[in-house]
Amino acid sequence: MRAVVIGGGVAGLVAARRLAVGGADVVLLEASDRLGGRVAAAEVGGIVVDGGAESFAVRGGAVLALVQRLGLGADVVGPAGSAWVALADRTVPLPAGGLLGIPSSPLATDVRRVVDTRGSVRAYADRLLPLLKVGRYERLGPLVRGRMGDRVLERLVAPVVQNVYGADPDQVPVDAVAPGLNSAMTTAGTLSGAVLRLRAAAPPGSAAQTVVGGVHRVVEALVAEVAALGVDVRLGTPAIGVHPAPDDGPITVVTAREDLEAGRVVLAADGAAALGLLGDAAPDVARLPLPVPAASTAVLLRVDDRRLDAAPRGTGVLRAAGRDDVRATALTHATAKWPWLAERAGPGSHVLRLAYRGTEAVPDATVLADAAALLGIGRIDAVARADVRWSDSAPPLAPETRAIRAALARTRLPEGLALAGSWVAGTGLASVVAGAERAARL
Ligand SMILES: Cc1cc2nc3c(=O)[nH]c(=O)nc-3n(C[C@H](O)[C@H](O)[C@H](O)COP(=O)(O)OP(=O)(O)OC[C@H]3O[C@@H](n4cnc5c(N)ncnc54)[C@H](O)[C@@H]3O)c2cc1C
Repeated sequence: MRAVVIGGGVAGLVAARRLAVGGADVVLLEASDRLGGRVAAAEVGGIVVDGGAESFAVRGGAVLALVQRLGLGADVVGPAGSAWVALADRTVPLPAGGLLGIPSSPLATDVRRVVDTRGSVRAYADRLLPLLKVGRYERLGPLVRGRMGDRVLERLVAPVVQNVYGADPDQVPVDAVAPGLNSAMTTAGTLSGAVLRLRAAAPPGSAAQTVVGGVHRVVEALVAEVAALGVDVRLGTPAIGVHPAPDDGPITVVTAREDLEAGRVVLAADGAAALGLLGDAAPDVARLPLPVPAASTAVLLRVDDRRLDAAPRGTGVLRAAGRDDVRATALTHATAKWPWLAERAGPGSHVLRLAYRGTEAVPDATVLADAAALLGIGRIDAVARADVRWSDSAPPLAPETRAIRAALARTRLPEGLALAGSWVAGTGLASVVAGAERAARL
């Protein structure tokens, strides 16, 4: 049976691999001239690092299972240390033992350091408030505010959720970002108790891990594997139409050069491109409004500065609302976070990664001032800089994307057509890989 996979990001590569393992004759169409999508290597001052995704959540086990099947299991490592948060009035370590910034021990010293005693005492009221009922809080913001107060929400949860999901906790459904939290609350009776339970139930080790060398090695291994499985990879070949036949016959995928008929099609292009191709298969969904794309720039710096050897801000810093002297939304001290990278960079040499909203160029002076301010050191100079620009045409938690997904759930897609990718599966590689495996099995 012929299968066509549209889009050669992680979702498309995983789907192509799964279909080929199942015996299908697979064609993988990729619009650009490279595979991997938002997972890509970048080079700064002679050091190769991830320019896009740099870690994956262990949650659900899908990425770990994939990495093991690709022969990279022995190279999986966790970060060394944890991150800080840059508040308007101080920069402090994020408390240990939390979930999305929600503390499990509201009175702990590291929580007080961020929200002060009054914030801690208010958060402790969570332990005294009447038992929660299932489904009482649909959104994360109202849940945290109601149980633990504004300071926990604004100083801890919002910076983490903004950084990981690019979204305001008030807009984010609890189940989308913290699966299991609602039911754990019912059992535990409190929010902090639920966090404790989920933490205890999580696999040992840190929540996010990577592969020595970077996540882009997973893409390299996937590319090698799909080639070995005989997948016909066509770069620079966008799909321009997907036409289901009446009576569930083969689907026709149109490219500039030829039409391909297939019994199975996995549409793994990013949201806007995928919707543009659903005009025939799901016309009502394809007509729905798209969200504003989330554009961002990762600025990579190589810095030769011994002061950074001590990792003054752990693995990096998240900027909270109100910290207006800094434009970067986050800084990752990559050589502090990943010991294998520090070894490659050599003594005294460091890689920093600053995240900015939008894709317009940020002046060197701004980047260096941001890095110095976030790291709490007087002044910093860089040996090299590399910018990597990204755009997500349908951020998974944007209200429009969620409306599109809800409409899709009510729509019967033509036999043989399945959807994959972050816009349908959810933010991050854990969701993307699990979703692509499912789509290829349907
Ligand atoms: C800066 C950054 C940091 C991130 N960090 C993390 C992280 O640390 N951990 C984590 O889990 N996730 C992270 N993510 C998110 C993660 O990278 C993505 O969720 C994931 O890579 C999305 O994969 P995808 O296959 O769904 O989409 P994409 O990677 O966008 O792939 C879609 C592909 O489809 C192709 N395409 C589009 N239209 C067509 C067409 N008509 N025909 C053929 N091909 C087409 C595109 O060219 C692209 O290659 C990060 C993302 C960014 C941008």
